[in-house]
Amino acid sequence: MADRAECPPASLPLRERMKIPRQHMPEQPAIERAANFSEVNLGYSEELALQEALRCLDCRKPLCMQNCPVGVKVQEFVDLIVAGDFLGAAAKIREDNVLPAITGRVCPQEDHCEGSCVLAKKGESLGIGYLERFVADYEQRMGVFHVPAVPPTGKKVAVVGSGPSGLTVAGDLIQRGHQVRVLEALHELGGVLAYGIPEFRLPRNIIKQQIDYLRATGIEFETNVIVGKTVTIDELMQEEGYDAVFIGTGAGAPLFMNIPGEQLNGVYSANEFLTRINLMKAYKFPEYDQPIVDIRGKDVAVIGGGNTALDAIRTALRLGARKAYVLYRRSEAEMPARAEEIRHARQEGIDFRLLTNPTEFLSNGEGWLSGVRCVRMQLGEPDASGRRRPVPINGSEFDLPLSVAVISVGTSANPVIQSTTPGLATDKRGYIQADPITQRTSCKGVFAGGDIVTGSATVILAMGAGRRAAKSIHEYLTTGEW
Ligand code: FAD
Ligand code: SF4
Repeated sequence: MADRAECPPASLPLRERMKIPRQHMPEQPAIERAANFSEVNLGYSEELALQEALRCLDCRKPLCMQNCPVGVKVQEFVDLIVAGDFLGAAAKIREDNVLPAITGRVCPQEDHCEGSCVLAKKGESLGIGYLERFVADYEQRMGVFHVPAVPPTGKKVAVVGSGPSGLTVAGDLIQRGHQVRVLEALHELGGVLAYGIPEFRLPRNIIKQQIDYLRATGIEFETNVIVGKTVTIDELMQEEGYDAVFIGTGAGAPLFMNIPGEQLNGVYSANEFLTRINLMKAYKFPEYDQPIVDIRGKDVAVIGGGNTALDAIRTALRLGARKAYVLYRRSEAEMPARAEEIRHARQEGIDFRLLTNPTEFLSNGEGWLSGVRCVRMQLGEPDASGRRRPVPINGSEFDLPLSVAVISVGTSANPVIQSTTPGLATDKRGYIQADPITQRTSCKGVFAGGDIVTGSATVILAMGAGRRAAKSIHEYLTTGEW
């Protein structure tokens, strides 16, 4: 526990609390971290956490909580930090959020809790994500697991997919006394958390600890099971005796640009690039062989402006790329990536070529990528998404020499389950249709949520869907009403 004498007292008047500046997150220096895979953010010390927690104004109507998709009781956990009860704060978060060490690291807080913090209107919001991460890490360091003693209901639920939506459904249902088994297609658990988001933003040991915590509550996990191939949803319900099924299979199928040269060696989808590196441990090179072309000394570009794109290019930089470009057809204001990731990428030396759109990948004549032809863009009127539409500028084409290109322009639904589950309604893009409140699908006893329903979104939105699904699965199992 921190020496409280070093910190402002909890009884500090509001006027004094308001003078405390936002406590910055300690980070690895950009020049060092650009060459390693260790975590960029180092986490608050107890002193920093106490200082930051004191900035909370204890608003009567806390909008931060309303704007958290899983409804974390922000004020209550922050008050517990101020009181020095860090384990109590962690337990308070866990009432609503089964993955606090993960959301504290990757939530786009500026769009949720922190975006609606009153302090943000006058200066900088409370560092809610940083505080959440602090108490979750503290809890893990202390090795404290609160396993709830709940009488078993005798009902069995299968959760398909171990991403944030599936883990949330499982975590919420086990606390209601149901037997839960998570079925995962890959050999590793965590979904995009494990195969997409790189080690330097979300260390594997953090994912493992959070899943171990869930395992300790009684959830069963089975890997290498492709539902729709190994076993169908109907078989789970009719032959294996599951009373309900949740589908949280994500949107992992990559989209391509459909421009000439995409088949050249050296052109990857971000999904393939990151999966190979994260699950085949290329981030531990040279201890593990790189299961991709050797990037050292090469020029690499990613096409796209989301979190995935930035993760891919920052990974390429760490694997030794000479030049690392982001090619994005709109301006920075329209980039969907988290603000912190954009700032970190710039500090590390990523070269952002904005308002730039590739039109063709160029070959060296032997089947390998040698460059990319691009056209400069300008912003026109807003499109259906509300963002200003990028329009090509005639005659502005130019070539950029490259050895590796990573395409990160979005993903789509994997169709395995939809095509093997009769009566399961999908939309025209192949996503499963589910009620936005109950997460019920068109098949009795089958629920769905996360990216497989909304298309590619965020960890916390997938978790929010998981919470809603768990609530309505529980209602269904206890009332039998559909
Ligand atoms: P997923 O996480 O995709 O998990 C689905 C799981 O289902 C996978 O493990 C998959 O293997 C499994 N599965 C699929 N089909 C089957 C089947 N037939 N049988 C059994 N299992 C199956 N969001 C943020 O909020 N912040 C970020 O910083 C962020 N960064 C990102 C970086 C990258 C590189 C990527 C790709 C995404 C990022 N996102 C981020 C988005 C976020 O990770 C996703 O929105 C979220 O993981 C979706 O959760 P999900 O549970 O719906 O699915
Ligand atoms: Fe904010 Fe995410 Fe925590 Fe909710 S889960 S309080 S949105 S950081």
